[in-house]
Amino acid sequence: MQDVSKGAAWMGGNIIPISDAAVSVTDWGVTHSDIGYDVVPVWKGAFFRLNDYLDRFMASVHALRFDIGVDADAVADILHDMVSASGLQNAYVAMVAARGRNPIPGSRDPRDCNNHFYAWCVPYVHIVSPDQADQGTSVWIAKSVRRIPQDSVNPKVKNYHWGDFTSGLFEAKDKGFETTLLLDHEGNVTEGPGFNAFAVYGDRVVTSDHGVLHGITRATVLDMCREHGLRVETRPLPLEEFWHADEVFLSSSGGGVIPVAKVDDRTFSNGAAGPVASRLRATYFEGLEKDHLRTPVRSHGGMTETA
Ligand code: PLP
Repeated sequence: MQDVSKGAAWMGGNIIPISDAAVSVTDWGVTHSDIGYDVVPVWKGAFFRLNDYLDRFMASVHALRFDIGVDADAVADILHDMVSASGLQNAYVAMVAARGRNPIPGSRDPRDCNNHFYAWCVPYVHIVSPDQADQGTSVWIAKSVRRIPQDSVNPKVKNYHWGDFTSGLFEAKDKGFETTLLLDHEGNVTEGPGFNAFAVYGDRVVTSDHGVLHGITRATVLDMCREHGLRVETRPLPLEEFWHADEVFLSSSGGGVIPVAKVDDRTFSNGAAGPVASRLRATYFEGLEKDHLRTPVRSHGGMTETA
């Protein structure tokens, strides 16, 4: 048995160390970012909202016309086996559908490619360190790039087209900011690399409904807001309106609710994590432990074999 304690991958029926997991250089996933994927968190030994992530993944697989030979139940079995083999209690668990190689010389027809499924897991990823999230992170509105239009690449289908985010991240890091937020071509706030964005005005919470991935954490946040008696508005969020927010926060499966203290040269909630965002952040982590949303990782011994 190889060491998979730092992370594991499931490829072609084998569970292997994450460091050995690789795809072909001629895979369209590599040459054309032709991939649909999803990421479900594992927290204290259980998947969170597993069926919601599986449903979104299978919808992406369908939308991108992948034929990966596994259904949602088989994907779930694979994830259970892989995470269990790794022994990780808190994990970032990716499921991936790739276009694959085109075996026909000279063919440019996507229908000829051999689509395939793989999965991998590593220790839980916080897209912003927990310390920084507790204090309120910093966000740079990208100036050199806009979010790729939703009628060019559908953001509801989780994908690897990160060119716009990567440009924004270079801008942000060069300016000393933690992460970046992208506008659409109409000047509305959309999303950033791995997160949705929210603005709080008194008891109203606003987040974009278009040009963004419908994050599972976003859905959890909207549920929590309603439970906390906050009004929720899902609609376009113009940057001009965003500047007048009392508080700003982000949501991601990689870290839950992430308060924002600073956007460009402006501070929010007195340059600290705001009270609404902080309360939602705490409630999110409590929710990760609620039985009705958890699927405990089944111990290994199912359909796969360890290479
Ligand atoms: N938007 C983008 C572009 C993302 O990649 C992600 C997650 O990785 C999110 C939003 C947040 O979605 P979720 O809450 O499902 O993690």
